Amino acid sequence: MIEPRVPPTREQFSFNAGRLCLDFVNTVRFRPVSDRLELINTYEDLMAWARQATILTPGEAAALAAAARKHGRAAVDALREARALRESIYAIVSSRAAGLPAPEAELRTFNRAVGQAMAHAGLAPAGPRFEWAWPDRAPELDRVSWWVARSAAELLTSSDLTFVRECAGYDCGRLFMDATKNRSRRWCDMRTCGNRAKSRRHHERHRAAAG
Ligand SMILES: [Zn+2]
Repeated sequence: MIEPRVPPTREQFSFNAGRLCLDFVNTVRFRPVSDRLELINTYEDLMAWARQATILTPGEAAALAAAARKHGRAAVDALREARALRESIYAIVSSRAAGLPAPEAELRTFNRAVGQAMAHAGLAPAGPRFEWAWPDRAPELDRVSWWVARSAAELLTSSDLTFVRECAGYDCGRLFMDATKNRSRRWCDMRTCGNRAKSRRHHERHRAAAG
């Protein structure tokens, strides 16, 4: 049985990939097939995702929303760049997961975003020590991309990169961290892709038994 493709609402972004950057990659659904579904269609969608990801305080979100209303063109640019960053992360990570070299053009796109993020990065006090942060208080419209770029740079330079998987669902394309003990996770979510595969296998067994 194929599930109906109801476009998820903004409240239905999922955050179960194990890394912020992968959750962002997964805001495109059904990536391998022609009727892929884009969940980040407007700058407001990007804000909604960032709020749910808890990378913006309510104050930062309000300031960014106001800035986006005032500078519509710049908000459209920031949205386009965030999506280009997202596609570059998908291309780099999924090619690595498949044991292939990263596409050079995508790596260039990604490195530009990392450069932007690093240009704004600084340290902020965090208890007894400090942490990497964005001390600049100005409501920069590409702030969400900084977080995503940093998360991806951390993953790509870490040995955890070997635990990234692409969902085995034929039309899914979601990326996730395989945190299982024997590194055997194949599905983004057992309730959706895993379940579909299970019922398909069940179906095929029945058919084979009947034939
Ligand atoms: Zn899946």
